Amino acid sequence: MSDTPSRSNLAAVDAAHHLHPFTNMKKLNADGTRIIQRGEGAHIFDSNGKKYLDGFAGLWCVNIGYGRTEIAEAAMRQMNELPYYNTFFGTTTTPTTLLSEKVCARAGPHFNHVFFTNSGSEASDTWFRMARVYWAAVGQPAKKTVIARRNGYHGSTVAGASMGGMKYMHEQGDLPIQGVVHIGQPYWYAEGGDLSPEEFGLKVARELEEKIDELGEDNVAAFVAEPVQGAGGVIIPPSTYWPEIARICKARNILLVSDEVICGFGRLGSWFGFQHFGVEPDLAPIAKGLSSGYLPIGGVLVSDRIADVFINEVGEFNHGFTYSGHPVCAAAAIENLRIIEEERLVERVRDDIGPYFAKAWGSLADHDMVGEAVSVGLMGALQLAADKSTRRRFEKPDAVGSAVRNHALANGLVLRATGDRMLASPPLIISHEEVDTMVRIARQALDAVWADMRS
Ligand SMILES: *Cc1c(COP(=O)(O)O)cnc(C)c1O
Repeated sequence: MSDTPSRSNLAAVDAAHHLHPFTNMKKLNADGTRIIQRGEGAHIFDSNGKKYLDGFAGLWCVNIGYGRTEIAEAAMRQMNELPYYNTFFGTTTTPTTLLSEKVCARAGPHFNHVFFTNSGSEASDTWFRMARVYWAAVGQPAKKTVIARRNGYHGSTVAGASMGGMKYMHEQGDLPIQGVVHIGQPYWYAEGGDLSPEEFGLKVARELEEKIDELGEDNVAAFVAEPVQGAGGVIIPPSTYWPEIARICKARNILLVSDEVICGFGRLGSWFGFQHFGVEPDLAPIAKGLSSGYLPIGGVLVSDRIADVFINEVGEFNHGFTYSGHPVCAAAAIENLRIIEEERLVERVRDDIGPYFAKAWGSLADHDMVGEAVSVGLMGALQLAADKSTRRRFEKPDAVGSAVRNHALANGLVLRATGDRMLASPPLIISHEEVDTMVRIARQALDAVWADMRS
């Protein structure tokens, strides 16, 4: 056995030793894994030299695109100076502290503190405890239950997966844990029936009010949602949804938690998704675009209402990670934010590439098997449908979605399929021409699958 396996046997080594997340291993080992070797701009290259346009920015995270040597240099400088020190016992490092200031500066006046983690999942577990500790500290220890949504995604740790609304995750490991309950999602296409999207948005938002009544306001700590559901299928809520949710949280005195792990750092054409929808959450987990995926780092934005209680009442929050605010990851994140700002990527998504993408991607709505082609900023979805006029879905949604994805991949475009929704979330630096290429390959894939199904 060699320590540096030749490229030709890497797939075999992978099959022998590497268990992949969210992957059917038997099937993967039979098919062979793809080894991604290099990235440049909006493209990745596999070990056979095949080039792909990455319509998914890795996993919703490579906002500034691949191959930015500035980040590597910032990380190297920090690694040479101080590769690690902790933030537990009265110490910090320079990049960690500077990053806290920079993140808060973009989050609006009521966010002035951040607690660092290494991932979005850890951010979920962090705010879950924080919310309960907060209510206990202000004399309402019974306010413990968290209301989340079916088909939401908040990570894979125990609290994260519990708050997520993925049935297939709950089935493994006896989840959700106690004190987490779910309400419906604002997925009009699938669940809206005869209501207009606006009526449906209000109806599902009011499920929150009903659930609070059922549980008793004094037992509910928080409501958590993604501004736009990502893994659930890029489900963009009707315009009536978020204002009603914000109204209910305020009226019933429960914390509003906006999971910004995907929507944060420019994806919707705003620094954070809550700004796009005009709401002010109390807590906001972040990760992914914070470092554009160059190094793992996440955190929780903590509003003044909560931070003041932690600082003045709680004393010590008995929680933290060895690598909370890791200095090398923080240095990479600072450089990432500098690039986003200097290249005006947030404004670019809002004013230029976002509208361009909306038009190009939206043009796929005329396809026979596309029920809706929607986007916000650089997050898009195609809803596949067997009959567009009645919103009838395919009998085997997963099979249709993965067929379209596989065709696109064979033609050099990475898209994701969540059941019968095709998802796109390209790097924020994608060019107009690259958007055209995405849409062209996506259309070819739709044509091919549609033709296969009819023959
Ligand atoms: C990816 C994701 C998470 C989990 O983040 P990890 O870094 O994978 O732990 C949480 N919430 C949302 C909305 C996500 O998309």
